[in-house]
Parts: sequence; C-alpha cells; structure tokens
Amino acid sequence: MRRCIFTVCAVIGLGLVQHNAFAWGSAGHMVIAAEGFRQLSPELKAQVIDVLKGHPEFADWKKAYHPNPNLDLATYIVMRASNWPDEIRNSGDIYDHPNWHFVDYPIRPPAFTFEPDASPTNNVLYGIAQAEQALSDTNANPELRGAMLSYLVHLVGDMHQPLHCESLFNDTYPKGDRGGNDIYVNPTTAAQNRQQGVRLHGLWDGLLGSTADTQTQWKYAVKLDARFPRKALPELTQHTTPVDWSLESRELAIKVGYLDGKLQGSTSADAAPRLPENYTKTAKAVAERQAALAGYRLADEIEHYLKFSQPALLAAEYTNLAPASAVKHVIGTAEAANFYDETMTVTGKVVSVSVRPTITIISLDKPAPGNAFTAVIFDANTALFGDLSKLTNQNVELNGSISEYHKRPEMILETPNQIKVLPAK
Ligand SMILES: [Zn+2]
Repeated sequence: MRRCIFTVCAVIGLGLVQHNAFAWGSAGHMVIAAEGFRQLSPELKAQVIDVLKGHPEFADWKKAYHPNPNLDLATYIVMRASNWPDEIRNSGDIYDHPNWHFVDYPIRPPAFTFEPDASPTNNVLYGIAQAEQALSDTNANPELRGAMLSYLVHLVGDMHQPLHCESLFNDTYPKGDRGGNDIYVNPTTAAQNRQQGVRLHGLWDGLLGSTADTQTQWKYAVKLDARFPRKALPELTQHTTPVDWSLESRELAIKVGYLDGKLQGSTSADAAPRLPENYTKTAKAVAERQAALAGYRLADEIEHYLKFSQPALLAAEYTNLAPASAVKHVIGTAEAANFYDETMTVTGKVVSVSVRPTITIISLDKPAPGNAFTAVIFDANTALFGDLSKLTNQNVELNGSISEYHKRPEMILETPNQIKVLPAK
C-alpha cells in the first residue's frame, strides 16, 4: 500500500469519511476512540451507544456503516463520533467550541518554568469538565449529552497530542507559536531532497496515520493495545486527572517536541531546516504511547461518568459482527474507499482503457482525473489479458484487493479471471 506519511497529504476530503487537518488528524482520533471503546464492558458499550443516539449525526453514521467481519456498528459509530468536534470546528454550529481542543500553557526556554494558561474557561480542560458534567446528568437534554460524549472522546485524544498543551514563547515568537502551528520544520532526509517544510504541529498530528479508513485504524488500535497493556503504563495510576494529563503532554512537548529548546525551525515553509535524524521516529514512539494512555483514560472516564445510567444491553445489530458469509462482497465504485485492504468485487462501467508503455489503466464510472475507481495492470501481466480496449463501455465486475493510491481506491489486476463482463442491461 502506498500512502503518504504526513498529515499535509491528508487534508483532502474522501467520500463519506471526512479528513481533517486539525488535531491528531482523523486517523489518530479514530485509533484512540477504538482503543477506549474496546476496554468497556458490554453494559457500558450499550450506554455509550444509547447516549450517542441523541447525537445530531447518529443516523448518518449508522447509514454510512457497511457490515464488516472486523468492525461492528457500535465501534464504527464511536470512531465517527471521535472526529465530529473537528468536523464542525469553526463552522458556527451551536456545539462548535474551537478553543476547547487545546490548552496553551506558555513555555519559555531555557528554564521552561510553569505558567498557567490565560484562558481557563475556554480550553481543553474546561471542555472536558463540561462534557463530564453533561454526561453525569442523566436528565440533561439527550442531544447535548450525545454531543458532549463525542467531545469527551475527541478531547481526551487532543490533550494527549503533546503540542496541544503548550505555546512556545521566545524572541521569534513573542506572541507564542500556537502549539507549533507557526514553526516549520523539514521532516525529510537530505536524500529525499524535499525543500518545503511542514508545520511542526501538523507533523505531530499525522504521527498516528493519515488514513480515514476505520478498519485500518481499528487494527492499529488492537496492535497498540497489545503493545501497551495497562500494566506497562505506570502513569495510569500516577496521573489520574485531566490537569495531570495536560502537564504530561506539556513535558513531552518540551522534551521531544522542542528538544528542550534546541529544535531548529523557521517561520516560513521555504526556509525550514531539516529535523535531526530520528526525530520523527522518536516522536512517533511517543505518539503511540500517548494514544495508548488516551485510550485507557477515555475508557476510565466513560466508566466513571456513565456508570450510574440504567444498565442495558446493546441491540444485536450493533454488536453482531456479520458472519463472513453474510458480509457484502459486491459493491459499487462509490463504496470502494470503505474497503481498503479487503478482497471485494467491484462493479461499474468501464469509461476508458488507457494503454501506456508500462501500465494499463482502466477507469470505472467516471473518466480521469476524477476517476471513481481505477484498475491497474502492470506491463509484466498485460499480455495475459488480450485486447483490453474491448472493455470500453461494458459493465464489469472486478475481483481483487482494494488499495489506496493518491487517496483513491484502485485494484491491481494480475490475471484475466479477475475481470467478468456483465451482460448489457
Ligand atoms: Zn480537536
């Protein structure tokens, strides 16, 4: 699978699932949501879904789900809910709180003496407190509770991104660097020779992946849980309040994010200096550990604030993973982006067959550059397929693994039996 590494590549919308440039990126929030949700008892899972039923987007999330042997409806909904506060950010929505996503503790090298945030009633700590309060009150408006649960899932994630808990002040940034948003670094090696820098904040946001694919991020969550069991994370018992968590993040921002004040950056993308070797690798290790902490803490928060609701059980439709035999395997091109890494049958009409020296490209349903779906045959296999131009204007079924290439779904065809021409309608 070919994917770009940094979040700058991930800001373009993709069908049903929205990408976002804010905070961990949608990929990171989904990992943390999945990690948290899988820790919960069946009763608590039922309560989470019950509360989310009040959320204004619940029906749309439910509709967007495709039965899948690896990811049940309940988990899918919680993963979608994790991104909603970013999706409505700066939209003017009644639930939009653009400043709840961070806390700007000023940090000043070289001493980095602690200073409080200047906006204690409009930051991530305040947002979490508001969410806790709404969830504790079983008589609160169901829509508000749904929205605030979505915020809780999101904000616990945000505050574990170290650069969400600081703003660097120095001679270059007398008004602060807004959590690394105004400082550019170049994360590529000299050999890669990319000159344009990226925002330090954006680099951190992208460390937990850049895909909007729920299944990929679900698998990532399972992997992180296995790598970081609760007992491997002593902070879980040492630091138990949101304020503690924000201070952990602040420390990590200073040490790993800004290298104790020694990080070289620039105010312009064009002049961004290269990061030291291993910077990104170390940062990713920190991000993954933070994601694990966030997942467990999110589960603990939910347990604490929802525990006194009525016990219930989830309806079968939310938890019953469809048996593999019942899972939909034949899909249209519009759905293909929901099934990355899966073997599926994709149906569509061939609108063009472009034979180039090293590659043949078959476009389904919409011509390039806006292709709905692309099938690719590499040179080594082309001879097996005969005259592919005959496929033009035919309805076909293509069977194979769906991969993501430049943010669009494609399928690599290696043998002719992967193509079936359907009778004309
Ligand atoms: Zn956010």
